[in-house]
Amino acid sequence: MIILKFGGKSLSNGLGIQNVISIIQNKINKKEPIVVVLSARGNATNELEQILELAQQNKEYKSDWEAFRAYQREPMPLLNFDAEFNQLEKLFEGVKLIGDYSLKIKDLVLAQGELLAIKLVSALLNANGFKSIAVDSRLLFKTDSNFGNAHIKEELSAENTINFFNQIPVGTLPVVSGFIATNRAGETTTLGRNGSNYSASLLAKYLNTEELQNYTHVNGIYTANPNQVEDARVIKHLNYQEANELANFGASILHAKTIIPLIENKIPLRILNTFNPEGTGTLISSANNNIDVKSISVQNDVGIIHIEGRGMLGKTGIDSRIFNTLGNKDISVGVISQGSSERSIGFIIAKNQTKTAVSALKSEFRTEIIEKDISAITALHDVSVITVVGQNLKAFSSSYQALAKNNVDLLLINNTLNGKNISLVVKNENATKAVNIIHSQIFGVSKKINIAIFGKGNVGGSLINQILKSQEQIAKRKQTRLNIFALAGTQHILLDRNGIGENWRSDYEKAAKNNGIQQVIDYATKHHLENLIAIDNTASSEFIEDYSRLIEQGFDLISSNKLANTSGFQFYQNIRSKLKKYGKQYLYETNVGAGLPLIDTIKLLHDSGENITRIRGVFSGSLSYLFNAFSSENIPFSTVLEQAIAKGFTEPDPREDLCGNDVARKLLILARELDLENEFDDIRIKNLIPEALRAGTAESFLSKLEALNPFYQKLKESQKPDHVLRYIGDLHGDLQKEKGILEVDLVSVSKFSSLGQLSGSDSIFEIYTESYGDKLIVIQGAGAGAEVTARGVFGDLLRIAEKK
Ligand code: ASP
Ligand code: MG
Repeated sequence: MIILKFGGKSLSNGLGIQNVISIIQNKINKKEPIVVVLSARGNATNELEQILELAQQNKEYKSDWEAFRAYQREPMPLLNFDAEFNQLEKLFEGVKLIGDYSLKIKDLVLAQGELLAIKLVSALLNANGFKSIAVDSRLLFKTDSNFGNAHIKEELSAENTINFFNQIPVGTLPVVSGFIATNRAGETTTLGRNGSNYSASLLAKYLNTEELQNYTHVNGIYTANPNQVEDARVIKHLNYQEANELANFGASILHAKTIIPLIENKIPLRILNTFNPEGTGTLISSANNNIDVKSISVQNDVGIIHIEGRGMLGKTGIDSRIFNTLGNKDISVGVISQGSSERSIGFIIAKNQTKTAVSALKSEFRTEIIEKDISAITALHDVSVITVVGQNLKAFSSSYQALAKNNVDLLLINNTLNGKNISLVVKNENATKAVNIIHSQIFGVSKKINIAIFGKGNVGGSLINQILKSQEQIAKRKQTRLNIFALAGTQHILLDRNGIGENWRSDYEKAAKNNGIQQVIDYATKHHLENLIAIDNTASSEFIEDYSRLIEQGFDLISSNKLANTSGFQFYQNIRSKLKKYGKQYLYETNVGAGLPLIDTIKLLHDSGENITRIRGVFSGSLSYLFNAFSSENIPFSTVLEQAIAKGFTEPDPREDLCGNDVARKLLILARELDLENEFDDIRIKNLIPEALRAGTAESFLSKLEALNPFYQKLKESQKPDHVLRYIGDLHGDLQKEKGILEVDLVSVSKFSSLGQLSGSDSIFEIYTESYGDKLIVIQGAGAGAEVTARGVFGDLLRIAEKK
């Protein structure tokens, strides 16, 4: 036999009650022997409680009462509910008259909710030709007289139940009321709110059924609240003990009491969804599945009490006085945490009891307070307890680190001795974020990286498209979801916590005005976004001033913008110390050599203690093209330059390339990677533009390109044989000192050397080191272009994401 129990929401009008009837009919059609147990329908219990309250306060309750009756009648308007309704009406009138009611009266009122439910459901079944009877559980279940939360008399109840069921004719389906019982005097009692689950498991025990199927409005027990954690999933199987733990820590569909009667006879309990009858739900049984079951629950109706003072050190009896005081006020204590120095103790209690607790403790310890042995007794509200069930401390360390990286402060932390549960207390505002972080660490379902991109030009735009294109694959391969939640351009800021999509260009145009990065920060905070990364694809010298604030707010940084690394050394260092203080990363592989793995290589060599003695190379793709072509072909310099402009290799005003500043910046960035403290002004730069052409507009410069020819032609022809011109950056000198020598220069090199054999618009970097001697490390390849640069930024993104 199987017991089917349906909860209040399952039995609500419309789809709920329809599904309940069809679930029952299906089972009967399949000849499965069943017994049905019901809660009150919809919100009936709460509504009855509310009307009772109004009546007692002599307030108008007629409209609520009418609405109640209409709702209960709706599925079968002709069914006669006179008995229940008349009784309720009399009770309400009496309570109104006296202005008071006892718990006994309340139980009698609430009981009608379940009685109405069994009457309706059995009538609906009978009307459909399925024979059933409504069974008033007050005839079966006997309790003490603790109205409102009565205790079951097991033997008597079992005997009544068995006798009663023995005389039910075969082929008649019993539909039993949950929640209600009677005391020895035959007065109505209830088993406590949500008690019909308990009724169902008692019945399962007494009738020794094969299974108890509890139909709820959710798919089962989840790894975390699915409203809070998108990736939460249904736990397929739990054993009784694990289920018990979950019940204790706030899995509200479970009640610790419900499981106990099932354990003895090993009756499995299945949590199913009335609104999703196909689902398999969660099975709770005695079987062990050897999988460390883990679930995360959150309680936010709590507060912390904190007691502090030097006088607590080494004193005995303080703790016992604290807990006695609370015990006397009937205050139960949750998570407790006491420093080993005994200077402070913190613990969790129900939020609505913090006031009582603080004043009781203050009066208990008034002497200690006067003598300054205790300096403070305070309450902290707005906190949440997050409990990880079935997880031991050791395995928790990755979550712990991830929380710290995401700026989630733990107010208290506590684990049970058997190492199975961990409770953390965090501020309310951090709770959702924290649950998501822990959930993704433990279940590895996928971690979400929340990205804010600043700048939507060539590199920014390419990056967005690259991310959108690979998003799905990365989610599959690396269990990492790259979510671009913010895109800021000069005009607008597009914000979407679920991630911008393919139509980002048009969405951007419609988005709100860009009023600065605070918008992005506020949005991330409001939506509890974790694993934040800000990417700077602007060329803005203003935006770099915001880096500090982003780091403070928990963002890691990536930039293709070189300016942060090339402004004053003081600024450079401030950023580094901020990063250190907040445990954040900053990657900028594309600052030099676009997508080539240059900075990473240099960093690795340097950090491993390798002595880098010189770095030299052609750092600029546009200038590489210019001199490679000019050296190998017999054409005027101006023609080559025009070609480069036409191919889009140069900036719109080519003087920005020709002046050498861009190469100088790259050189400076490399120097600083080696801990050199050079400033931009230290760099000797060979400007390729003749003095006369440096001022004036771009147009006027572009119209006078031929003026460059005599100088470069002469230079080319005055070289030694088999030599070519190269525009290089060169970092040398004693690199162990505070500063190195940085030069940007036009040189003539043998065409057989590594610099000389360069072609196209490639970049090349020669790294000289002590251990490699004259065997250079050479890194060469496409060192420019939006697509390759975006690829490089993407690489930085994955590098940071990996460590989250
Ligand atoms: N109807 C009762 C309540 O709402 C019992 C139950 O639903 O389990 O508390
Ligand atoms: Mg209920």
